[in-house]
Amino acid sequence: MNPLVLAYDGFDPPDEGLREGLCTLSNGYFATRGAAPEADADAVHYPGTYVAGCYNRLVSRVAGREVENEDLVNAPNWLPLTVRPQGGRWLDLGAQELLAYRQELDLRRGVLTRRLRVRDPDGRVTGLTQRRFVSMDDPHLAGLETTVVAENWSGPLEVRSALDGRVVNAGVERYRALDGRHLEPVETGQAADDLVWLQAQTRSSAIRIAQAATTRVVRDGQALSVPRRTEREPGYVAQLLTVEATEGEPITVEKLVALFTSKDRAIAEAGGAARERVGRLRDGFDGRLERHVLAWDQLWRRCAIDLGGDGDPEVALALNLHVFHLLQTVSEHTIDLDVGVPARGLHGEAYRGHIFWDELFIFSFLNLRFPELTRALLRYRSRRLPEARETARAAGYQGAMYPWQSGSDGREETQLLHLNPKSGRWLPDRSHRQRHVSIAVAYNVWQYYQVTGDLAFLSAYGAEMLLEIARFWASIASYSHALDRYEIRGVMGPDEYHDGYPDRDEPGLDNNAYTNVMAAWVLCRALDTLELLPDHRRTELEERLGLAREEVERWEEVSRKLRVCFHDGDIISQFEGYDELEELDWEGLAARHGNIRRLDRILEAEGDTTNRYKASKQADVLMLFYLLSADELRGLLDRLGYRLEPAAIPRNVDYYLKRTSHGSTLSGVVNAWVLARSDRARSWRFFTEALASDLHDLQGGTTAEGIHLGAMAGTVDLAQRCYTGLETREDVLWLSPSLPEGLDGLGFDVRYRGHWGVNLQLTRRRLRVQVAASDAAPIKVGVDGQVVEIPSGGMREFAL
Ligand code: BGC
Repeated sequence: MNPLVLAYDGFDPPDEGLREGLCTLSNGYFATRGAAPEADADAVHYPGTYVAGCYNRLVSRVAGREVENEDLVNAPNWLPLTVRPQGGRWLDLGAQELLAYRQELDLRRGVLTRRLRVRDPDGRVTGLTQRRFVSMDDPHLAGLETTVVAENWSGPLEVRSALDGRVVNAGVERYRALDGRHLEPVETGQAADDLVWLQAQTRSSAIRIAQAATTRVVRDGQALSVPRRTEREPGYVAQLLTVEATEGEPITVEKLVALFTSKDRAIAEAGGAARERVGRLRDGFDGRLERHVLAWDQLWRRCAIDLGGDGDPEVALALNLHVFHLLQTVSEHTIDLDVGVPARGLHGEAYRGHIFWDELFIFSFLNLRFPELTRALLRYRSRRLPEARETARAAGYQGAMYPWQSGSDGREETQLLHLNPKSGRWLPDRSHRQRHVSIAVAYNVWQYYQVTGDLAFLSAYGAEMLLEIARFWASIASYSHALDRYEIRGVMGPDEYHDGYPDRDEPGLDNNAYTNVMAAWVLCRALDTLELLPDHRRTELEERLGLAREEVERWEEVSRKLRVCFHDGDIISQFEGYDELEELDWEGLAARHGNIRRLDRILEAEGDTTNRYKASKQADVLMLFYLLSADELRGLLDRLGYRLEPAAIPRNVDYYLKRTSHGSTLSGVVNAWVLARSDRARSWRFFTEALASDLHDLQGGTTAEGIHLGAMAGTVDLAQRCYTGLETREDVLWLSPSLPEGLDGLGFDVRYRGHWGVNLQLTRRRLRVQVAASDAAPIKVGVDGQVVEIPSGGMREFAL
């Protein structure tokens, strides 16, 4: 059994935000939260529709300062649809007697269904079934079908179907003091008897967003002619339909909506495009749904992960849910958009739709399934290379320094102040000092190349980014004569609990181990890239970037002399001076506060700071063991003149696990990975916890504000790469399986080097690799140090 339905029984107002987040439907172009169509934004509901890459910048005044933020805009709400017996009350779950309620998200077909029955004060019982999709077939289309049954009454039924552009961004409570009015109304209209439309514009980025909707009452596939009137006010247009309801006979209302923006290609104008798209549809809801389901069938054919045996259905469901949301956030419809992957998906407003280093956790799954998608997402970064160069220059460095948070044009979007909801204080936000985001960009370029062998991309775009990022690291590193080492000062590592030293005014830390080791890695890969490039292209890039031999020699030198600090023998210090910090009273704090994941907020509210303690929000040093194999890491440290004995690795893992609060969902993914071979039981616990992060909202309310896509993709990648030991190096697909405790097997397909179907089937005793027949060249597969060639149509079994 492969569970593919996320179901909720009963209407539960406190849980509604979480359900809306998890039941978001999207197609990689636009997304709509799983909110009730009859509801406006209020304390329970938050309808939100977001278009990938549609941002707007506003200035607000908080804590006596002007702050500017760029947000992913909450677009007009296309959902509104409600019903009532004429003269009665519009549907309102909070105020009516609810007799039944069930909501199901069908992951296989990408359909959200809601079934409910209500009784009004006059005793009339009405049943309602709603199905909706955001088309994976046509990225500009969505549909909502509502079937109403007057169970014990007959008479006129009123239906109101609207497009509502009066919405604001108000989905995240702690941002509510900031201006969230991103839209201004432009116009509304009626284009045909049953077709209304609306246009709004973002206030500073001037993006037109157009929606057009048809609402039809259908019987046996035929639209019925019913009395209707249109209501319009600025930013809002609705149609009111009246239908004769007969006791026990279903009435079906279909709403089909098209959404375009002025950023879209192959259109003359967004409004016209939306009207034409929906006006010209030759089939109705069912026809469009069928095409949407076909698109999902094809996606699952490529992306399904079979957990084998009689695994835990909850694990399988969570994993499927994660694959589903990943495929919804970025898809083939994303490719032409010039966007990156927002850390919180297109599912809510947390982190303002910004793009962080989280792509590091996301691209590995895509590389092995949709390499053309990763390529497009990497182009989002390459188009912003000029801005990254400018950011480096403004900070006094050379090369390219990518922003910690990135939005429309690639400037630094990290907020200047953030609110600690526990203390009510607005505090300076120094997280932009996480310069390591540029490492993630370089790492993603390199990984993409390793999986695909796409030298054309590397030559045209990837190499320039890699070289400019290497240049940045060489320039931020300063030489210490006393130590004969290079140092990187004033940065933050991935652990956001440390943004400075407790006794120092200037922000930032010195010699963060993750940053320094990975900077050395970037420099090495830049040197490799110069070797790999065709001579012609290398010369062009050297000329264009003014890259002289002396500079490349300096890269070589810096890559051998960056400083890494150690303490307590062979523990890699998270940063210089880490060992002087105090130990935290973990038990005492847990006893006082219960959930201490967000230690930073707790301590700040008590007038203290996490900077004083050996306490991390998330994996920092351990990121090294996550991204690099033990051999690779030891090799790099060796090159830097440090020795790391194999036995030191579990000691480091243990040391930092004891001192991490897991305030980021990314932490569980990394911990599951680094423990996968040494402590399978514990790895499994971290894995299942990471699987539950969003499903059970382990971060205490944050999933309602958007999913945690890095953790979602990270768990899928644990199944895909970690537990199979899959690596793509030196033109070989390496496999070194190590199934965790809770899994009996694993099976999935990857796309590799021109082969669309390389099928891996793993049990505890054997591994089978089967290559579907095609014209592509044989692939090299390495198991247990032995490399074999498997031709197209071939199969090999390896005993384990
Ligand atoms: C984490 C970061 C992450 C960001 C966006 C933060 O809580 O500390 O590592 O990039 O969330 O997901």
